[in-house]
Amino acid sequence: MMLREGLLLQVDPTERCNLACIHCYQRWCPRPPDLPDGEYLARLNELRNRYKPAVCIYLGGEPLLRPKLLAECVKLFPMNFIVTNGTIGPIPDYGPNALIWVSIDGPKAIHDRIRGRGTYDRIVRNLDDYGRPFAVTTVLNRLNWPHLVELVDEWAGRGACAFYISLHTPQAGRIDGLTLVGREREACIREVEKAWEGWPDLVVGSPGMFKSMLDGNLEGICPLARGILVCYDAAFNRRSPCGMMGNCRVCGLHYAHFLRAVEEGDEDALRWAQLLLGSLGKA
Ligand code: SF4
Repeated sequence: MMLREGLLLQVDPTERCNLACIHCYQRWCPRPPDLPDGEYLARLNELRNRYKPAVCIYLGGEPLLRPKLLAECVKLFPMNFIVTNGTIGPIPDYGPNALIWVSIDGPKAIHDRIRGRGTYDRIVRNLDDYGRPFAVTTVLNRLNWPHLVELVDEWAGRGACAFYISLHTPQAGRIDGLTLVGREREACIREVEKAWEGWPDLVVGSPGMFKSMLDGNLEGICPLARGILVCYDAAFNRRSPCGMMGNCRVCGLHYAHFLRAVEEGDEDALRWAQLLLGSLGKA
């Protein structure tokens, strides 16, 4: 199955953030200033009309730094994924067509080492007060991967409805100290498979996706670079080949491997795609 261009739209309401996480790709991406709300909505509406995406994904920067703008944005799309660091509370209720994805990078001590002291407890408090289903997204690197199963177990118990697992992707042309390669990457993927086998209705994945993540080299074959997910920064400059401008030879981005598995007809990936993205037939 070939997925169409613009099936997924990714935008940054702002490039500003209240945290400075050690692994964030924003460290090397351009960070234009915010557009005023009215101009932002007009530009987003143009993209909606051009691509008719099944889902609009909000990243950044921290999207919840612009809560009023987001409240208007989510009205434009059938489904919205808001990816937040979860530290700004209370988390607004944007209704049933907005799913909050909270970035959590390990049990408390590891998460705080990566994202800043006290951040884990703030997330827990904010999610305890949040009345809707939420999902978790985690980025594994050389510091946190051995703690994955413990983390999934904890957040299964806290009521997460889905769990995305990515591996750290370094800047294009580089390998940095957080990048998983060789035997360590193999061991990490075994933990990812263990988590998926233990919680198949929580961990978003499939055998084909994990095989692709193990290899990590998507140069020339990345579905995102083909535009299935189109990415724009806060000033609506297109980010190419993807939002994080990473090293395609050791890519760990969940979506890239997931969409590859969907296109290859991997049954578990298709099941998750239909759950999260709606009917791919309309795509
Ligand atoms: S998502 Fe695709 S384009 Fe982006 S770094 Fe990974 S392989 Fe490259």
